[in-house]
Amino acid sequence: MHEISLLEEMREILQQQARRQHFSRVRQVTLDIGKLSCVEPEALRFAFDVVMKDTLAEDAVLVISVSEGIGVCQNCNKRMSLESLHEPCRHCAHPFVNVIEGADMKIKDLLVV
Ligand SMILES: [Zn+2]
Ligand SMILES: [Zn+2]
Repeated sequence: MHEISLLEEMREILQQQARRQHFSRVRQVTLDIGKLSCVEPEALRFAFDVVMKDTLAEDAVLVISVSEGIGVCQNCNKRMSLESLHEPCRHCAHPFVNVIEGADMKIKDLLVV
C-alpha cells in the first residue's frame, strides 16, 4: 500500500514544521489528493491511523480533499482536465499528455496546538 510511504513522508514534514514553528500537537490536517495520484481515501484513512500512532498527529482529525487532474498536450499544447493518467488529448487525440497537476498528495491545511 503506497499510502503508507506517502504518509511517512508527511509525518516527517509535520515533525520538521513542529520543530521550526514550535507546536506540539496537530489537531487537524487536510490532505489534498490529486485525482491522478492513485491514492484511495479509504486506504489513506486507514494508513493515517497506523502511521501517526504515537506521534504529534496521533489524535489529529484527517480531512481529505480531492483536486482535479490537469494536463498539457505534448503536441497542441492545450490544457485540459484529466480523469485518468494516460488519457489521449481531447483536442487533437495525441497520445501523450503531460500531467501538470493532480498526480501527488500534499498538505493543504494544518491546525496545530
Ligand atoms: Zn493505494
Ligand atoms: Zn493535443
